[in-house]
Amino acid sequence: MKYFFAALSILLGSGVLISMGAHEEGPVTKLSLPAEALTGKQTNPQFVPVPAEMATRSGIKLELKTLNKFKEMRAEAKKAGIDLFVLSGYRSFADQKRIWENKFSGKTKVAGKDLSTEKNPRNKVLAILTYSSMPGTSRHHWGTDFDIAFSKNNQPDALLNRSWETGKGKEAYTWLTQNASRFGFCQPYQESPEKRNPRTFTYGYNEEKWHWSYKPVSRDFTIAYKEQMDGLKPAGFSGADTCAEFYEKFILNVHQDCLTTP
Ligand SMILES: [Zn+2]
Repeated sequence: MKYFFAALSILLGSGVLISMGAHEEGPVTKLSLPAEALTGKQTNPQFVPVPAEMATRSGIKLELKTLNKFKEMRAEAKKAGIDLFVLSGYRSFADQKRIWENKFSGKTKVAGKDLSTEKNPRNKVLAILTYSSMPGTSRHHWGTDFDIAFSKNNQPDALLNRSWETGKGKEAYTWLTQNASRFGFCQPYQESPEKRNPRTFTYGYNEEKWHWSYKPVSRDFTIAYKEQMDGLKPAGFSGADTCAEFYEKFILNVHQDCLTTP
């Protein structure tokens, strides 16, 4: 954990110390983000719809500042011949639970496998976690994170890393890695989970070249999650008890690009 805490103490500037480590001393400023906002359980989340022309479907919502910056970035990308569309934005706990339960029950196959036949609970949740986050831990709950497609119709191929490694996808990904940070966006799931924060986390979500985050808002959510971790133990879905071993690692193992001062 040391590397993560070191990074967080660097990014907290101007005399305000938010203590992240269990043994650190000094004043502690608690960020006032309620558990419901962190876990997608808000009853009336105040998010705004992504305009149809910049999304792969209607009904996608994002946090307001995130959407405004995405619009700016999108316009800039267009000048370079790159088309960016939001294909998934805010997801509630219930949305994520639906995805999770379908995989847990075997209704949706995971890498071709019916997981209802997997009797080892640890193997079962880790198989789902290879592709989906556990309900209550998705950064999509925050409205600050979204998945990008590089053409209006390339869902679901945009959700494969290899789609971003050739042709139009490669052009778009190269542009994003060179320019997205100017607009405040970072890519939380870069590299393999073991390489992302070496010596700190062995578990974590796999690389997702399509998933981007608006750091000026999402960084505060990550910090608040760390502060409230013990009260946010997985609950309310199949396999939640087994997930308790992993949830902290999966939430906190994000790339340093998303943790440093915006
Ligand atoms: Zn995503």
